Amino acid sequence: MAEAKPTKCLVVGAGPVGALAALYAARRGWDVDVYELRGDLRDASTTPLNFTKSINLALAERGINAMRHSGSPALLDRVFAEAVPMYGRMVHSASSAGTLTEESQQYDVHGRFNRAVDRANLNKLLLDEVETLPNVKLHFNHKLVGADLRKRKAWFERKAAPPQTADGAQAHQDQTDGREQEVEVDFDLMLGCDGAHSNARYHMMKFVRMSYEQSYIDTLWCEFTIPPAGPTSATTPTAKDGFATSPDHLHIWPCDHGLFIAIPSIDKSFTCTLFAPSATFATLEQDPATITQFFQTRFPNAADLIGHAELRQQFEQNPHLPLISIKCSPHHYSSTGVILGDAAHAMVPFYGQGMNAGLEDVRVLFQHLDAHPSTPAGRTAALDAYSTERVPDAHAVNDLALANYWEMHSGVRSPLTLIRKKVEEF
Ligand code: FAD
Repeated sequence: MAEAKPTKCLVVGAGPVGALAALYAARRGWDVDVYELRGDLRDASTTPLNFTKSINLALAERGINAMRHSGSPALLDRVFAEAVPMYGRMVHSASSAGTLTEESQQYDVHGRFNRAVDRANLNKLLLDEVETLPNVKLHFNHKLVGADLRKRKAWFERKAAPPQTADGAQAHQDQTDGREQEVEVDFDLMLGCDGAHSNARYHMMKFVRMSYEQSYIDTLWCEFTIPPAGPTSATTPTAKDGFATSPDHLHIWPCDHGLFIAIPSIDKSFTCTLFAPSATFATLEQDPATITQFFQTRFPNAADLIGHAELRQQFEQNPHLPLISIKCSPHHYSSTGVILGDAAHAMVPFYGQGMNAGLEDVRVLFQHLDAHPSTPAGRTAALDAYSTERVPDAHAVNDLALANYWEMHSGVRSPLTLIRKKVEEF
């Protein structure tokens, strides 16, 4: 039933979780305003947050199901059209005699699979879908700088306009004259989807006794690319269809103090990530010429697949980034604010569930909102029920993500007892 006065919903952050949350809210007839710190990532001039380019993510059933319930039936078809199925993991290693091996470990006896998706592309598809709805407004280059959850007001700093495009037009309709301005916004409900360093969470903490725990693991990550197979490029025995190694797998090169992974892309390249202790990164940063040897002794064949010169160049050019893990409770305040996605539960990426769990937050939140009246009292009950259900689940997936770090770099080749010991030590 349509509401007499639509709920005024403020979504902070237009990442995958914020975009899906805006879609769910708009489908309920709410007045939705989305405020995003960066420019529109659909403009070529906008650099994805933290990344030199987009990263590939494993999209699993948790995230798919959340999109399935978004009220946009064609959305999943579009997502799947640009996804690569991954049926298992491929473990790369070398015997003591130097023989290279690839061992395929299927994810599921029934052949079910995960999908590799480009994070920015998924985000774009979600924003395109959001933009088809008349009751949503997207405001880019706006940074949340304050929120009063009792008075239901938020303040944004409007950033300078993005650079002009080649034909002289502004890169996005949401322009400013170059000066920073503060914008005040009223809301009934604020959905804080502004990522691990969430300002929405920070301001919510002033109103609710939020327990908060943040930790960094002693591991950094750096992104690399394996190009499509060329006439002279290195490949592995499972290479096919123009990919330098099997496109049907998430590839893992385990080693004692680190991990290298590769995820297929629709352009036949692989987006790869090196995870290693910060001390290892420091040593390599001091002498980047040793990176090829470092790879050859730990991740057999990976340096050849990337190309030796490109390996060094990418290590020097791409950022070396930390991995944060956040738990907090509750995830809401009264009837007026709730945090979702990385804002509520950033986790290390080893379980491939950070974004998936964030998308699932949206589905679960709206399930509770739909089950209660659209009044402040109804919303309070819905948000209470949401935190009660979601906080333990978020903590559990956060712990599993940490545990899977050991599984991926040692467990794929170690007895179970060793994994258990390492998890307990951690
Ligand atoms: P974000 O993606 O961080 O988006 C937050 C948005 O809020 C951004 O657009 C940001 O610009 C905006 N914002 C920030 N501050 C403000 C502000 N003050 N005002 C307004 N806007 C603001 N997850 C998976 O499910 N599967 C995987 O395989 C996977 N692999 C990963 C690999 C790596 C190396 C890493 C680092 C992460 C991986 N993840 C994976 C996790 C995944 O990237 C995140 O969980 C996901 O991006 C979180 O989405 P989000 O929308 O909550 O936050």
